[in-house]
Amino acid sequence: MIKFSDLNLDPKVLKAIIDTGYETPTPIQAGAIPPALEGRDVLGIAQTGTGKTASFTLPMITLLGRGRARARMPRSLVLAPTRELAAQVAENFDAYAKYTKLTKALLIGGTSFKEQDQLIDKGVDVLIATPGRLIDHFERGKLILSDVKIMVVDEADRMLDMGFIPDIERIFQMTPFTRQTLFFSATMAPEIERITNTFLSNPAKVEVARAATTGENIKQGVVMFEASSKARGEDEKRDLLIRLIDAEGDACSNAIIFCNRKSDVDVVAKALKKNGKNAEAIHGDLEQSHRTRTLDGFRDGSIRFLVASDVAARGLDIPAVTHVLNFDVPSHAEDYVHRIGRTGRAGRTGTAIMICSTRDEKNLADVERLVQNPIPRLDNPLSRATPPTTTSPVDDVDASREDRPRRSRTRGPRKAVPDVDTGADATAPVDVAAPVAEPVVAVIDMAPVMAEVAAPQPDAIVPDRQPRDAQQRDGGSRSDRPARGPDRTAERSSPERRERDTTPHRGRDHQRGGHDNVIGMGADTPEFIAKSFAERSTS
Ligand code: AMP
Repeated sequence: MIKFSDLNLDPKVLKAIIDTGYETPTPIQAGAIPPALEGRDVLGIAQTGTGKTASFTLPMITLLGRGRARARMPRSLVLAPTRELAAQVAENFDAYAKYTKLTKALLIGGTSFKEQDQLIDKGVDVLIATPGRLIDHFERGKLILSDVKIMVVDEADRMLDMGFIPDIERIFQMTPFTRQTLFFSATMAPEIERITNTFLSNPAKVEVARAATTGENIKQGVVMFEASSKARGEDEKRDLLIRLIDAEGDACSNAIIFCNRKSDVDVVAKALKKNGKNAEAIHGDLEQSHRTRTLDGFRDGSIRFLVASDVAARGLDIPAVTHVLNFDVPSHAEDYVHRIGRTGRAGRTGTAIMICSTRDEKNLADVERLVQNPIPRLDNPLSRATPPTTTSPVDDVDASREDRPRRSRTRGPRKAVPDVDTGADATAPVDVAAPVAEPVVAVIDMAPVMAEVAAPQPDAIVPDRQPRDAQQRDGGSRSDRPARGPDRTAERSSPERRERDTTPHRGRDHQRGGHDNVIGMGADTPEFIAKSFAERSTS
């Protein structure tokens, strides 16, 4: 078995690794570190959770140890698609470089240019940035990229998904032709392949096999919800969420609660707080400092419930999340896989429970088609008609499906339901005092799903060459960038657009017409899984 000490890393880096407690390199580390240390370009095909951050950070620190920082001319550059991911890379860098004198600057939106400028002026070894903020600094003349020796692109498929590929190409062109490039993507969509063919030179390709059983340790279930009236629908849905959380009891140490709309994120967080629950909201419209505080609080356990939008929570490495609660069925089925992948990480078990309003049934069908399994129906604790407890294990799914309220049976074929319509059926009895049924969830084998979500889908890719609306970058803050002409094509395909989209069905159908994006596997792979796969390394 390969050891870190076999990899030719700087002794200071090895010392820092010992401090982290890592015993052996993960496959992506064992595969990527040696060619990176030889100065070769590396094309790493790996998801978050496989240890890929260290696979580029460790050799980078080792290689940079040999030179010195110069004012305004960073020697290396790491690009990450979101602020949170960039901040995560920065944290990793701090941990692994702690015995060196190397310096870094984190260039992300939502923080002041001034402080970042000061750091750049002083000279830093490593710049960790989101593409939009980096281009801003460059355009302000504050940054010279002609001394970049190592450039890392992390989560390239997510960059594609977010419309950043034109920015990445631009940044490649700003850096010297002779640079070393370490390029990571969970999938190799054709557009990503094109970029790597253009900008990488004879890369060592290191591919970590996809998780075979990623979802096996995640129990899943869905509660069908039909409001008593349109007016009461939203209140009742939040009430249902609270009941579901309460029913989980102590098993639910912490949870991420996903909402499709930012507006709901705030309202749901408020409702949970009002109910005495320790909850905070996180979405792209919040100040960066606030987002960072909230995430830190969730990580350290001082916040128990994180109510989040898809964009804000994607890719985050928070190992011990016991529950994912989907307040809505995501309007893009792939997001379901990303969402539930927040739990059951690093060898732990997890529970994913979803609420499906009548109007979301079509989205649920899309999710089930994607996961190639019905998601077991759970009792609705608010419904008088529901028996107190029934089990709905996977084996019994067909039977349990029969029990669920189906709009189509009572109302004929389903038509597009306007977003304002809660799909309420005034005849559905609601008894808020009904006993809380124990949610019973079942495990679904997600192996084929994970492969499908991660697999490139050539006909579903939008080559996005337009500069993206600058204000959409970095997942949020709109005040810190000079205005540029918005590009609707890019915006339409971005997850942030989805987050704002209040007409999920239309958005989905529209995208089906060939405008879907390939979405990376993100952080959906528990790190332990990576260890059981042998890497493939070709040169
Ligand atoms: P990443 O894929 O970079 O997001 O890493 C996922 C998780 O794996 C992080 O929590 C890392 O701290 C952890 N990790 C990285 N390398 C190793 C290793 N060699 N052994 C154990 N854990 C690791």
